[in-house]
Amino acid sequence: MGLSKGAVFLRTGADQTLEIGATRGFPSGQGAGAGPLAVARAGADLANAAIRRKGSFAIPDLAREPLAKAFHAAAAAAGLNARSAALVPVAVGPRALGAILVVSEVPRDFTASERSFLKLVGGLLGWTLIGQEALQNLEERNEELKRLASALDQRTADLKKLDQFKTRSIHLITHEMRKPLTPIFTYADMLLGLDFPAEKQRQFLEKIRAAADEMNQYVSEMIETAKLEEGGIQMLFEDTDVVAAAEQAVGRWRKEAAVAGVDLEFRADIERRTFTTDGVKLGEIIENLIENGIKYTPSGGRVVVRLGKAGTDLEMAVQDTGIGLAKEDLSGLFQKFNIVKKAAVPRPSHRAGLGLYLTRIYAEALGGSITVKSELGKGSTFTVRIPVGA
Ligand code: ADP
Repeated sequence: MGLSKGAVFLRTGADQTLEIGATRGFPSGQGAGAGPLAVARAGADLANAAIRRKGSFAIPDLAREPLAKAFHAAAAAAGLNARSAALVPVAVGPRALGAILVVSEVPRDFTASERSFLKLVGGLLGWTLIGQEALQNLEERNEELKRLASALDQRTADLKKLDQFKTRSIHLITHEMRKPLTPIFTYADMLLGLDFPAEKQRQFLEKIRAAADEMNQYVSEMIETAKLEEGGIQMLFEDTDVVAAAEQAVGRWRKEAAVAGVDLEFRADIERRTFTTDGVKLGEIIENLIENGIKYTPSGGRVVVRLGKAGTDLEMAVQDTGIGLAKEDLSGLFQKFNIVKKAAVPRPSHRAGLGLYLTRIYAEALGGSITVKSELGKGSTFTVRIPVGA
């Protein structure tokens, strides 16, 4: 059509404001606020009219068209002698996406076929824009789908891991639970089959009793874990003589320590004795750590329980001269069912891999934490810190 000057207006954003999509052939002009964009912007009234009318229209004489007043003046100011123009909406069906303005410097009319050609260009641009929009939506959907798929993958992997963990746990539980059954069967069978002197009978019964105790302890830990996981942990905070609570905990393991040939010591280095905390849980934490200390320390060794303050924390440390732990076995030590398999345990004992897990949960329920320092063959120190105030 011999036209080389014009602009494309596009409706954008949620409020569908009209913006300049492109300009061509408009002069730069001079002074602030001049330029092709300023010229185009002045044509916004025309573009809006084309959108409103939903059809193309020609302006043979721009100087005489009231709607074109602003555009005509801006073009002239920029040095463009705009004489005639034509407008066509950029539309797809009833959806108007913008408008195209073409300008001629020679006065001219637009024939019907030229107008329908312009309409075709408007329609083509409309479809192109919609196609782009759809493509972008598709890409966004695609991205979202990818994200969902990878989340699903992750979830499946987690579930698989959980399943493996459960299978391993069940295997371990049944294995550990059956261990004490061996002495129970053996000694019961011996008692049933032969006439042993009273003293021997008593010894066998004690062994049966010890094995039953071990099973009971195992089951108790399992129940405690299940309760804790189902219903959370019940705490009772009250004024507690922490020294007395720790002393009692130590006292309950004196006999066990003596039997194992392990020296059990308690040292309290603390000025204030009474703090608001859960004394029962505190005692259980100390007992669990003492139990391990004795269990994993060969005869002739020592377990020292220390109670003190570290700033505003109550600090309880249980140190032993036992078998210790290798660096690589420290991580995950406070997780459920974590038993260091390769450890050469000093004497046969109940092992469920729940003690340290429960101890950590108790310490955390008291607002505190548990840490471990250990060296293989030298011993371990488990330290629990609980915030209690000054
Ligand atoms: P359990 O002693 O019933 O197996 P725990 O959760 O109390 O379970 O301990 C987990 C593992 O950590 C134990 O199996 C043991 O290998 C190791 N462990 C715990 N305490 C000590 C300690 N004081 N010295 C050496 N190893 C320890």
